Amino acid sequence: MNCHASHIQSWDADAVTGSSGHLTIDLAALQRNYRKLSAAVAPASAAAVVKADAYGLGAEQVSKALHAQGCRHFFVAHLPEALKLRPLLPNDTHIFVLNGLQPGAEITCTNADVVPVLNSLEQFRRWSFTAEKLGRVFPAVLQFDTGMSRLGVPPQERTALAAELKGCGNLEILFIMSHVACADEADKKQNADQLAEMRVIAAEFAGLDVCFANSGGVFLGGDYHGVLARPGIALYGGAPTAGRYNPMEPVVRLEVAVIQTRTVPAGTRVGYGGAHVTSAKTRLATIAAGYADGLPRSLSDCGAVFYDGVRLPIVGRVSMDSITVDITALPEGTLSLGSLVEVLGPHQTLEDVAEAAGTISYEILTSLGRRYERRYR
Ligand SMILES: *Cc1c(COP(=O)(O)O)cnc(C)c1O
Repeated sequence: MNCHASHIQSWDADAVTGSSGHLTIDLAALQRNYRKLSAAVAPASAAAVVKADAYGLGAEQVSKALHAQGCRHFFVAHLPEALKLRPLLPNDTHIFVLNGLQPGAEITCTNADVVPVLNSLEQFRRWSFTAEKLGRVFPAVLQFDTGMSRLGVPPQERTALAAELKGCGNLEILFIMSHVACADEADKKQNADQLAEMRVIAAEFAGLDVCFANSGGVFLGGDYHGVLARPGIALYGGAPTAGRYNPMEPVVRLEVAVIQTRTVPAGTRVGYGGAHVTSAKTRLATIAAGYADGLPRSLSDCGAVFYDGVRLPIVGRVSMDSITVDITALPEGTLSLGSLVEVLGPHQTLEDVAEAAGTISYEILTSLGRRYERRYR
């Protein structure tokens, strides 16, 4: 009886509450990243891109922490994201919807004090028409396509738009913007091409402020900054420029609990499909996160987790709710039920996991599962 009681007490408290993964989000590091990006673009200012629930970290907590640092411009992708965020932020903030103005969303947008990024002449006309009907002046942002062919006013609509804007008294254009397709690849010629195109547009729409740089763009130099930068990934600790030193501080830490350990002889199959066969006597630990928790199945037999700085390779296929790792490198008895191993942290960056999985840090972050216990520091 005593023996059982002492075992229960030695467990991590979270094993008792049932949580098997801890996602720690360091809001102070996020704030330092924001200050660093603000300093890099000064005298321009820095907005925050908080789409997809702030890249999976929690749009509410992230936006409030950034507002406390002076951030007043927040970008989301979808209108429902903006509607959710609006009541959480003071009235001195602008919330912009990058994906544009959907037909029928005009009244919802204006009632919620959300600013649509107008991506076409048609969206411009509908927003202006609604403002006129209500006898109001609506704020708006115009996005132009400078070479990504994704979103924004296409080149062939610019002349008509410039003409209509001249006679339009019911829209206040806060700034014009565009998005750079290869900003994380500092040497790509397309960056300069897009910048040149943006300068042509700025001349056509003279007198309007420019918003241009994402995270990568911030580090392409002052030419790319305009008056407002729009970093996302760099705020969250991701590398702004591929393959270069990452000047940002990590914000996310992910630790996952061990839920079973075993020792198996050589020739033992591990996981779905029996895809992995041990080549020697091996100690294994199964941890409580899988592809449903955002650890891609492409990490099967190639990714790793860490404990105390020791690399523990993933063996066999990633399951939906668990992963099995080889813990032979650790002294026997080091890991037991409830021990936490590091998935993201000081020994393994977002970029490390992304590279092992064959993807980018953005996809790792935005896939982080909903089943982890989130802790904000
Ligand atoms: C997502 C997005 C950003 C932020 O990009 P990062 O590379 O994460 O800094 C900026 N602008 C637009 C239009 C976006 O879609």
